[in-house]
Amino acid sequence: MSPSPTAGGRSPLSEITVQRAAMRKLDCGAIIHGCETRIIASSEEELLRAMDTHARVDHGLTDVPETLQSQIRRSVRDVEPADLRD
Ligand SMILES: [Zn+2]
Repeated sequence: MSPSPTAGGRSPLSEITVQRAAMRKLDCGAIIHGCETRIIASSEEELLRAMDTHARVDHGLTDVPETLQSQIRRSVRDVEPADLRD
């Protein structure tokens, strides 16, 4: 009997890291409620820059305050393969 992967839940103890292009994602809604924009980038730097632009263009922020920036950094996640088939 082989262990079947459980959808939505995974054990951190059995996680296997495979070398591949690491993608990072950020759901804007985690920071600005009601926004459904998802940003996916190949590096955190690139993602933060895209979020900065998104915040200015789509949310009318003239400046992204320090508190919001640290909130953004905390909300960055690794992209799982399932997310890309979305
Ligand atoms: Zn947004």
